[in-house]
Amino acid sequence: MGWLKKLDHEINDSKTLEERFFAVVVIVGLAIVTASEIVTVIENIGVIANIGTAMGGILLLIVVYEAYIRKHPDTARILICYAFNCVVIPIAFFSCGGFDSGMPIYMLAGIFTIIPVLKDIHRFVCLLVSFTVDVICISIAYFLRQNPYGFIASKLGLMPELNLKARYIDIVSSLLIISVYIIVTTALIMDAYQKERAKREELLEKLDDLSKRDELTGLYNRREMFRFLEEASLTDGEHFLCMVDIDHFKNVNDTYGHVFGDVVLRTLAGIFNEEICVGDGELAARYGGEEFLIVVKAAQKEKAMERINHVREHFEKTAWEAQPELVITFSAGMAECAAYKSYAEMISQADKLLYKAKENGRNRLEV
Ligand code: GH3
Ligand code: MG
Ligand code: MG
Repeated sequence: MGWLKKLDHEINDSKTLEERFFAVVVIVGLAIVTASEIVTVIENIGVIANIGTAMGGILLLIVVYEAYIRKHPDTARILICYAFNCVVIPIAFFSCGGFDSGMPIYMLAGIFTIIPVLKDIHRFVCLLVSFTVDVICISIAYFLRQNPYGFIASKLGLMPELNLKARYIDIVSSLLIISVYIIVTTALIMDAYQKERAKREELLEKLDDLSKRDELTGLYNRREMFRFLEEASLTDGEHFLCMVDIDHFKNVNDTYGHVFGDVVLRTLAGIFNEEICVGDGELAARYGGEEFLIVVKAAQKEKAMERINHVREHFEKTAWEAQPELVITFSAGMAECAAYKSYAEMISQADKLLYKAKENGRNRLEV
């Protein structure tokens, strides 16, 4: 069943929505032409009718060849629309009983097909041409049925007059086939559109998230950090802003390599993710290199200190698989947000306190 898989791939995995629409029209079209051919043979209207419907099948195979083997999809699109509306349907119309038959229903299906297959000016021109051809065919049929022209039709074997039963079968089967065509095509197109939309939304969400995050640690980046600081109301007495800087990180890099240094940064980010409730009024962001900015919520300063010290101890106790003896620490400075007017002042104060923590021996929090 390799070809079934291929068809499924064309409908579901084609790159653009237009490619999917086209694949749907071709696949459903092939099914329709096969069904029409069977009905025409059963009706036994005549050789020309059989040739007319068979031409539809051959044409579709040419379209498949152009689009998927020779990779000329644009030619295939134009070919399918013009050949069906201006050649196959008119031949079938005159050979299968004209407006006595279900052919006008096929004309409508031909016009409908143009919309998802062609676009812009091609769509407009093809619709106009096809509609004109259909009207001309119906008008010629009208004249051919009248005296004194009626003999021409019977001489050429065109528009065989169908008896009541043949008309009944033809119209009912045409209605059924074309209804299924329109329903299936529309359903598949809608489905393809919905899948495309879902994919786009997912992609947008991913892009949106990526634009907010730091590549190495997955924490919020500076841009998102400043957006948070601008939008959050931090001066309610319950927010504390903290600058964190890893101690002697240059040594860590120099001694154990930058790859290990990156592991340290990611590990600390993991600890922040565990301990800080980002999205619940708190923030953990990468400010720069090995500096991080944390916002915690706590009823009192002591509680906030307790939480930051807990994070500090958690990091200090980390066992480094590659270096079991190694202990890495960070220093931090914490500002009470309510004491400052702007977040710039809060950051500046936390920075000063961080410097003090470094001076006072590192691996500590200054408030
Ligand atoms: P101090 O205790 O005074 O903070 O000393 P320090 O060595 O941590 O400070 P310094 O500012 O001299 O060094 C920071 C280092 O952080 C230097 C830089 O190579 C390293 N660094 C910055 N970003 C990254 C990164 O993304 N990955 C790695 N591996 N290292 C980084
Ligand atoms: Mg630093
Ligand atoms: Mg440092």
